[in-house]
Amino acid sequence: MPIHTTDYTQTLLCPVCGEQYDPNQVQTYCKHCNSPLLTRYDLPRVRQSLTREALRARPRGLWRWAELLPVHDPEYRFSLGEGDTPLLHSERLGASLGLSHLYIKDESSNATGTFKARGLVVAVSRAFELGIREFVVPTAGNAGGALAAYAARAGAISHIYMPADTPVANQVEVKMAGADLHLVDGLINDAGRQAAADAALHGWFDVSTFKEPYRVEGKKTMGFELAEAFDWTLPDVILYPTGGGTGLVGMCKAFDELEALGWIDSRRPRMVSVQAAGCAPVVKAFQSGAERTELWPNAATIASGLRVPNPFADRLILSALRESQGTAVSVTDEEILAAQREIGAKEGIFCAPEGAATFAALRHLVSSAWIKPDETIVLFNTGTGLKYIQ
Ligand SMILES: *Cc1c(COP(=O)(O)O)cnc(C)c1O
Ligand SMILES: [Zn+2]
Repeated sequence: MPIHTTDYTQTLLCPVCGEQYDPNQVQTYCKHCNSPLLTRYDLPRVRQSLTREALRARPRGLWRWAELLPVHDPEYRFSLGEGDTPLLHSERLGASLGLSHLYIKDESSNATGTFKARGLVVAVSRAFELGIREFVVPTAGNAGGALAAYAARAGAISHIYMPADTPVANQVEVKMAGADLHLVDGLINDAGRQAAADAALHGWFDVSTFKEPYRVEGKKTMGFELAEAFDWTLPDVILYPTGGGTGLVGMCKAFDELEALGWIDSRRPRMVSVQAAGCAPVVKAFQSGAERTELWPNAATIASGLRVPNPFADRLILSALRESQGTAVSVTDEEILAAQREIGAKEGIFCAPEGAATFAALRHLVSSAWIKPDETIVLFNTGTGLKYIQ
């Protein structure tokens, strides 16, 4: 039974200059400041019509948060069963660092094997509702797979641009979903340039990270699920492997929305961006006190989802880290591989390297006493390691 038609979206707001954009038109990002746009909902009205009990009684999945998502008509809420992933108490792994409240939010059960599904299902659904039928995305790998799958599910066309050295699983899944695959010599920013040029030429809709407003809306549902799983409290620390920063920014937005609904209080987790030593623009900017990231030269890491040399939402990522009293940590590929084995052996979870990176970072933060043994910690395993087998 689909959840009824909803329309609680009020406006799209540029967080830098405050300009507002009409959410009932196709929008991209703020052209004055090159900033992402963020959706504002009529939260007082949501508060009157939605209860936590009603939410819990709905069928599992991301769309049970429909009042807090931008798609109005249930007919356009496409789905491959994304969301409501397990939150796994990881006792053996935690004990190895002296922690008793360590959890892994395991996103590997999403369609296409990563949490990119959450963002793309919402972006594709809303764009389709507004009349878009042809999509394009530059990708470090997993976003392309997710776009290809959801475009196929919706009956739309997709064009995927990825670096030629992207894991082979990403290339195969895109082709299997009937998408148009372009392999690019270079990194994701080079793929982005080509995709943008072809998009302009052909009129395709570009769903690059933060260049349309709704992938972040899909990813914020991870924050909703955490709050619900901890019985409407939040953990002390969240470690998030950061590429474009969608989930980090999205979860902070989710917490603010839940507070406005009166469902959680004003306490927030310390947010930690985890990056790879071979591509750590957020860590560098955080440590130097900068508001913007600088292009990371020759970005290289096995964690392809973290190979984002200059994230478009840099200002939002850095302010989310600072406002939450969080931090940013980089780890080497060797540490990532060791962490991947350890999580597998202790918990039976075959993490993506991006997810494993959070455990490697946790080790640093525990040994520097930035994290205390009795704190509640959530690591994000953002995908399955199976996608990285070469
Ligand atoms: C894209 C990706 C990331 C980074 O996510 P962002 O929200 O862009 O920071 C992390 N892990 C995996 C597996 C990814 O595909
Ligand atoms: Zn602006």
